[in-house]
Amino acid sequence: MTTGLIHDPRFQEHDTGPRHPERPERLAAIDKHLRDTGLINRLHLLPFDRADMSWVRRVHTRSYVERLELACGQGRMYIDVEDSAICPASLDIAQLAVGGALAAVDAVMKHDFDNAFCALRPPGHHAEMDRSMGFCLFNNIAIAAEYLIAHHKLERVAIVDFDVHHGNGTQHIFEPRRDVMFISLHQDPRFLFPGTGFAEEQGIGEGKGFTLNIPMPPFTGDEGYRKAFHNQVLPALNRFKPQFMLVSAGFDLLAADPLANMLVSPECVVWMTRELMAAADLHCMGKLVSLLEGGYELDALAECVGLHLRALLGDNGDIHTT
Ligand SMILES: [Zn+2]
Repeated sequence: MTTGLIHDPRFQEHDTGPRHPERPERLAAIDKHLRDTGLINRLHLLPFDRADMSWVRRVHTRSYVERLELACGQGRMYIDVEDSAICPASLDIAQLAVGGALAAVDAVMKHDFDNAFCALRPPGHHAEMDRSMGFCLFNNIAIAAEYLIAHHKLERVAIVDFDVHHGNGTQHIFEPRRDVMFISLHQDPRFLFPGTGFAEEQGIGEGKGFTLNIPMPPFTGDEGYRKAFHNQVLPALNRFKPQFMLVSAGFDLLAADPLANMLVSPECVVWMTRELMAAADLHCMGKLVSLLEGGYELDALAECVGLHLRALLGDNGDIHTT
């Protein structure tokens, strides 16, 4: 297997200030782990640059983009909510993150690589069409899905989101549509931000049935995630038959994470990655791009990203943390 990697020290220039969990050190920890383990030498660094704003505007309203431009230009500390910290460089870096997602999609569509992982920030899945939420500025994965449909002319794109928080932004962008299926596994919204993602939320209008929310009680472990995959995620993917698989890979479902209460092991993340790859093999010649969302305990994040990448590279057998 060949795996492309979106990786750039410029992503660390999005400065969220002291004591913010979504901090530049997250990517520094991943970078160090990839070098220390030699994994970096097995991955293909993809060239990319900032996305054309026309792609951002297909998902986000003009007024939101203008507000973000203004807030960064004025040196404001956050946009919309205090969680969404910004600095003067944040607009450029958010645009760069979108550019990374689109370059990864292009590379996999051109068959340059079997799959790709985007080690980017700011994350995206909470960003709504018209506002920021939960550390997210532009919805990277939603823009990538829209790009696959509008530019690459695909008719069915699946987004599977295993970040411990519900991907509210991604859901709301696509819930009236049937060309993008959104599947999210997350901690029960009664007990965790952002408070949406109940099982009853299944899409609206002609998009009904193309949103699948799987809320899980706090302290769910591997068994609960495996059961959800077998009973819900994989059957839904088999019905939908995606032409491309996008993954919102949040590593805050790990037991070590300080922002949530799940008890998932890194081995289970490897298992889920392989199941999604197998579904992609079945339906779309393995075309899969995974994008980093959350994950706030630096060692657990870096190690699990390494394992996720080894699964994407097709390493066989047990993959353990070292
Ligand atoms: Zn999260």
